[in-house]
Amino acid sequence: MISLHDVRFEYPHGGFSLDVPDLTVASGTRTAAIGPSGSGKTTLLNLISGIERPGSGEVRTAGVRVDRLSPAARRSFRSTTVGFVFQEFLLLEYLDVLDNILYPYRLHPELRLDASARSRARGLASDLGLASLLDRRPSELSQGERQRIAIARALVTEPALILADEPTGNLDPATKQQALDLLFEQCEARSTTLLMVTHDHGLLDQFAQVVDVDALGPAKA
Ligand code: ADP
Ligand code: MG
Repeated sequence: MISLHDVRFEYPHGGFSLDVPDLTVASGTRTAAIGPSGSGKTTLLNLISGIERPGSGEVRTAGVRVDRLSPAARRSFRSTTVGFVFQEFLLLEYLDVLDNILYPYRLHPELRLDASARSRARGLASDLGLASLLDRRPSELSQGERQRIAIARALVTEPALILADEPTGNLDPATKQQALDLLFEQCEARSTTLLMVTHDHGLLDQFAQVVDVDALGPAKA
């Protein structure tokens, strides 16, 4: 699903560089990315999804050389292939739960908001225990419920890959495991590949592979 080869990335104004000689994530598997704050975990996800482009090297995601795509093609690639879950959830307060789940369809004109997308959104809401909350606003929900909306939103477009950046960082332990179980269950049901950044070493035995981003490449600024 993901392969990086001889990748070198540097932010334009210097300071930080990330080298990834070789990294592979197999389709349908769960991988955790760990490393201290500032080690480049988010940068790595951004290279994989094509938000950032490497200075050199190959980034192949879902069979596509994303490093070779134009900015517009990378945006379109992301909208159809990648689902994102963030620590801050990034929900929109002016939208109810159902419209938050369907937000990717507002954001990306190339995605069609048809009856099957709406029915997928309702099905995910139901699977994630949100069925009775569809017309609430995010501020009327618990942190755990908010994160479950973010998980449903990441899955609603049926992406081949989910990138989750510290998705449980704002959750208490019980809520955290519940959100993770639901995320894992949904990914497994669709053979969706999951790459998740976490600081929580207690979770690592639930992943097939653990990537230490700090140990990836030789040259560190
Ligand atoms: P992590 O997610 O592991 O905490 P990041 O990938 O966010 O680390 O950041 C790695 C390093 O790159 C940090 O030192 C950060 O300050 C720097 N950095 C992140 N984004 C940018 C940017 N847009 N421009 C310049 N430097 C950045
Ligand atoms: Mg980060």
